[in-house]
Amino acid sequence: MSLWAVQEEDPRRIRYVTDQNEEIVGKRFIGMAPPSDFNEFVSGQIAGLITEGGECRGCEFVDSCSGYFKWPARNYRCDTVKALFRTLAEAARELRSDLAACPPNGTGVA
Ligand code: SF4
Repeated sequence: MSLWAVQEEDPRRIRYVTDQNEEIVGKRFIGMAPPSDFNEFVSGQIAGLITEGGECRGCEFVDSCSGYFKWPARNYRCDTVKALFRTLAEAARELRSDLAACPPNGTGVA
């Protein structure tokens, strides 16, 4: 699941409609021009960013991010975002490790 879906801003899954009956990507994008194809918006966004050869190409978080932080500002620098993703990934690794070290339910020390 991409960050777009987590944030409920993947228009293939969720559409927002303004009081003026205009479809938009998400509430934070009210007043911006809508994409030409809502169903292909996220896949088109990341495909374009990768084709351009910018920061998203080769990004270790591209599968879960899909260029979320490059819209609408394609030149946004993701250094801080990537540091946050790394922290979350490390926390997830530690949690998995802790869970794997736990004895099966009911066999632990009282
Ligand atoms: S973190 Fe930044 S560089 Fe990486 S995929 Fe997301 S938008 Fe692209």
